[in-house]
Formats: sequence, C-alpha cells, structure tokens
Amino acid sequence: MPDPILTVDDLAVAYDGAVQALRGVSLRVDTGSVVAVLGSNGAGKTTLLRAISRSLGAVGGAVTAGTIRFQGEDLARRDASWVVRAGLVQAPEGRRIFRDLTVEDNLRAGGYTVRDAVARKEAADRVFDLFPILAERRHQRGGLLSGGQQQMLAMGRALMTSPTLLLLDEPSLGLAPQLVEQIGDIIAQIHAQGTSVLLIEQNAAMGLRVADRAYVLEVGAVAAEGSSAELAATDDIRDRYLGVS
Ligand code: ATP
Repeated sequence: MPDPILTVDDLAVAYDGAVQALRGVSLRVDTGSVVAVLGSNGAGKTTLLRAISRSLGAVGGAVTAGTIRFQGEDLARRDASWVVRAGLVQAPEGRRIFRDLTVEDNLRAGGYTVRDAVARKEAADRVFDLFPILAERRHQRGGLLSGGQQQMLAMGRALMTSPTLLLLDEPSLGLAPQLVEQIGDIIAQIHAQGTSVLLIEQNAAMGLRVADRAYVLEVGAVAAEGSSAELAATDDIRDRYLGVS
C-alpha cells in the first residue's frame, strides 16, 4: 500500500462543548491521490476540514478525541508554521480573496512564505499556466473577477507555496455546470503534477469524477467509503447523491 500523507483516526469534534459535529471519523489520503469527502448540508464536511487545517478554535469548535497525522506527524504536536512548511495548505474558504488587490498581488500574498523571489515567480508562472484567465487578468482587482475566476484565484493562492497536500472546500459551490467541469479538470491537472488533494464537495458527481477514493459523511460519521468507481455504482449513493436511479 502507498504511504498515507494524511491519516485521520477516530476523530470527534464538538462546538461550544456541546454540539457533537463529528463522531469517530477515520480516513486516509494516500500520497499522490485525490480523496473526496461528500455529504449533504450539515453532514460535517467543513468541520472535518477545519479540524485538519486547525481553524476550529476560531469558530468555537474543538477536537475532543482522535488524531490527525500529516506525513506521520501528529498535528496536535506541531505549530502552524511547521504545517505550512511541511506542505499542508488550504485554499481560502468561501473564495476569501483580497478584493482590493490585483490578481498578481493576491498571488504574491499567497506566496509570502516563499522567500526566494525566483521561486515565487516560478510558482506564479505555474498558476498562470494552470489558469490562463488569471494571467489575462493579472492587473485586475480580485473583487472585479467573476465567481468562477475568484475560485480559481483562491486555488491559485494556495498553490503559490507548492503544497504537498491541498485542501479544497467546496470549490464548485455556486458555479455554473460548465465551470464546475473546468474546476474538476484543473484539480485533475494539479493531481497530475504530483500534489495530493483532499476535496470537500457537496457536488458528488464532480467529487467522484476527480477523486480516486471517496468518503460519504452523514450526520458527523462516515456512512460509506470506497473507490470512486465503487461508490458511483452503489444504488444508495446514486439515488441520494447523484440524482440518478
Ligand atoms: P455545509 O455544506 O452546509 O457547510 P457541512 O457538511 O460542511 O455542511 P458542517 O458545517 O461541518 O457541515 O456542520 C456540521 C454540524 O456542526 C452542523 O450540525 C452544524 O450546525 C454544526 N456547526 C458547524 N459550525 C458550527 C459552529 N461554528 N458552532 C456551532 N455549531 C456548528
């Protein structure tokens, strides 16, 4: 079996010491793979991502049991700067880009930890190769981009530090079907370049299309897991998440 880049074991998370949002969640992302976490509203997908990116505290949540290991290291024992240096990066949630900064300056901000100017320029060039529309709009302010372009900029910002594991929070949210497809293709390209991806998606069709494996969360627990092909062929998944029967 390939080495896991991320392992989540028996994770439990509660908000405000009371609301149990995750119970006994276990999953693994093998190095070089794309894993999707699917589930409907309120299933706990964002909570899982917050636990991994350690942003639960800011919203009143806390890990109450379980472990999260990144490259074999227990994240609870590591500080935020280690995590970023080790290559675990989340694309800004909800397309939180800097609206008043240009596309180029947004990318520069994403690459602020990259000290070497040449490496930073190379990273920006890679992002522009992946998202040609961002190259065209490099001098435009982020706030003037369309929703899809803002999503691309959010992903581009995260890619500036050349992550080993990229966390994506519902990149298809609010996008027209054609754009969803385009974002899916871009995730496939990011994967092909060697980056592992954990993709949180409510759009199960898109998640299963780009992922090697997927987990389905229901009310805070893993209800199903398997290869994307296996899950896509499961009647229950088809009925409930893919809208086909
Ligand atoms: P969505 O797609 O709507 O974001 P989700 O699958 O990401 O759904 P979560 O946002 O993780 O689900 O929510 C899981 C549960 O935790 C829900 O019952 C939700 O109400 C609760 N929850 C989420 N954030 C908070 C918070 N900051 N404080 C209290 N409860 C919260």
